[in-house]
Amino acid sequence: MAKSNTELVALFLVLPSIFFYFCIMQVKDFDSSRELPVMEYFYTIQGEGFHSGRAAFFIRLAGCDVGCVWCDVKESWDPQLHPLVSIVTLVNLAKESNCGFVVITGGEPAMYNISSLTSALKAADIEIAIETSGCYTLQGAVDWYTFSPKKFKAPCEEAYSKANELKVVIAHPSDFEWAKTHAEKVSPTCKLYVQPEWSKQERFLSNVIDFVKENPSWRISLQTHKFMQIP
Ligand code: SF4
Repeated sequence: MAKSNTELVALFLVLPSIFFYFCIMQVKDFDSSRELPVMEYFYTIQGEGFHSGRAAFFIRLAGCDVGCVWCDVKESWDPQLHPLVSIVTLVNLAKESNCGFVVITGGEPAMYNISSLTSALKAADIEIAIETSGCYTLQGAVDWYTFSPKKFKAPCEEAYSKANELKVVIAHPSDFEWAKTHAEKVSPTCKLYVQPEWSKQERFLSNVIDFVKENPSWRISLQTHKFMQIP
């Protein structure tokens, strides 16, 4: 019998979780106090959000079970495809960049206990920002929490109280109202950003501009690193 649309949508949403479960089962043996699965690290300019334009050392952890259809780093989803890198190495590389600012991203970096990494970065007097979907309780201490909720997996309540920055990717007309529902739950000091999804920028940029003109507590975030053609 043919599956109903509802069944197909449910299957579509649950597949990334099943996929991730089998991936994480294969990398479960690593000790997050010593090492983490890393897709890449690089010294660049933070291209989006509050810290846009700032020199930053990026650590992109591997592994994500959120399953955004428009994800531009799908190669990060399977942690098994990426090496384990020691925290000592990551911190030394961050120190060598000499910028004093690390962005921990993914993938979904909060899936792992990153407290050893954040403690070591702090001990090196490095400022830490994280970019997360908010789907996991954060194990680690950061200076800046960028909360970028996704429709494909619900965030946990902690994300709202921790958020220094709420960044909502606009990939569908309904995302503007969805953004507002999240903004109602973050703290009054949380910075609010709408960011057109890169592949739909032409379609949504004028809507994003209109939205911010009508809702001036919000700001526009553009992925300026992509315009600059840097990582
Ligand atoms: S949370 Fe980030 S890494 Fe994960 S699927 Fe969504 S956009 Fe990609």
